[in-house]
Amino acid sequence: MYALNETHDPALRSWVGSANSDDTDFPIQNLPFAIFRRRGSGEAFRAGVAIGDQIVGVGDVAAAESLALDAAAAARAADGESLNALMAMGRPAWSALRLALSRALRQGSPARAVLEPCLVPQADAEYALPARIGDYSDFYIGIHHATAVGKLFRPDNPLLPNYKWVPIGYHGRTSSIVVGGHPVRRPVGQIKGSTEAPVLGPSRKLDYELELGLLIGPGNALGEPIPIETAEDHLFGIGLFNDWSARDIQPWEYQPLGPFLAKNFSSSLSPWVVTAEALAPFRAPFVRAAGEPEPLAYLDSAENRDRGAFDIQLEAWLRTEAMRTADRPAVCLSRGNARDAAFWTPAQLIAHHTVGGCNLRPGDLLGSGTLSGRRPEEAGSLLELSQGGTRPITLPNGETRGFLEDGDTLTLRAWCQREGARRIGFGECSGTIIAARSVA
Ligand code: MN
Repeated sequence: MYALNETHDPALRSWVGSANSDDTDFPIQNLPFAIFRRRGSGEAFRAGVAIGDQIVGVGDVAAAESLALDAAAAARAADGESLNALMAMGRPAWSALRLALSRALRQGSPARAVLEPCLVPQADAEYALPARIGDYSDFYIGIHHATAVGKLFRPDNPLLPNYKWVPIGYHGRTSSIVVGGHPVRRPVGQIKGSTEAPVLGPSRKLDYELELGLLIGPGNALGEPIPIETAEDHLFGIGLFNDWSARDIQPWEYQPLGPFLAKNFSSSLSPWVVTAEALAPFRAPFVRAAGEPEPLAYLDSAENRDRGAFDIQLEAWLRTEAMRTADRPAVCLSRGNARDAAFWTPAQLIAHHTVGGCNLRPGDLLGSGTLSGRRPEEAGSLLELSQGGTRPITLPNGETRGFLEDGDTLTLRAWCQREGARRIGFGECSGTIIAARSVA
């Protein structure tokens, strides 16, 4: 794991004024990456780093500064239409680039004269996915979510006996992952009602899932597991991830092989990836409550116990079409914390995913699973907030929601804060629901 260094110093300030405001997600201590261009420009997408409400191109920094060799190599690798080449380079290169970016963007940096005219306001940018995602796996590590959902089906026995031993997951679909901001079309699928034959129709129980997305750095060779002790060397960074779900398609199709069309129509990944190094001040112990089984040895290490968890505040916001028309702001549906929600750590997920010999590759995505807190108002899905749609929630303007309606915009946000560190955030991951295709 990363030690704190000069890039985390809470006293650092940037010559980009908006980066110094207390409530920005992107102070100079953060420096997350995205793939962007000026909206509607037809320019090539390229790598950028968020600083306040601006973006600085990684290539522009490399051109402006005479960078140390390893930082220059990392900047060259980053300067393409995806972050995969940078992700493949590993921690020494990432750290060297982060240090170079931090120094170039600090107050008093001579690079300001060259970089300031190159800044692109985030308000004028559009984004592509940060990585060419080769493979995507989705876990189920939110124990309060698993318990709440299990209760809807098995009130007496919500958690299956494997849950506390094996990080539950499945292999998902990569082709339909979109970057935050992209609209999401309501899916069509087989839905089983009270009649014997299912009908093909649009989902009426469209939901979101508040997840974190882990982006993989260097991979492992086929057949060679990643031990938990070095698992975080393979973690490039973390984004927000909404694994949209059709709760009425899922129950009919999921046995015996698991979710399929209920999950594969779209998932949204935030444009900004916060690096593992930026998150170093916000680590927390991984603890099992008394009476819970301790993890098997391959899922256990001293460092993981000491600070394997991430202390990340999570929020889901909803703005309906009626709210937008009336110029009313979005409403917060839930607030929670990843550390309280997650039963396993990222290092455990990487160690488990590879223990059988499966190879991960740079740019692979691991979804955490829905991260719901212990209390009902911390739930990361409408399935939980509305009790399966049976108790619709009432919004401040009087509208109700059991599940998402067309025109709804769902936005995930996250941030980290603690004494002695600068608050950093993840930006947002949002998607607006558009009507289903008509079914003949
Ligand atoms: Mn999911």
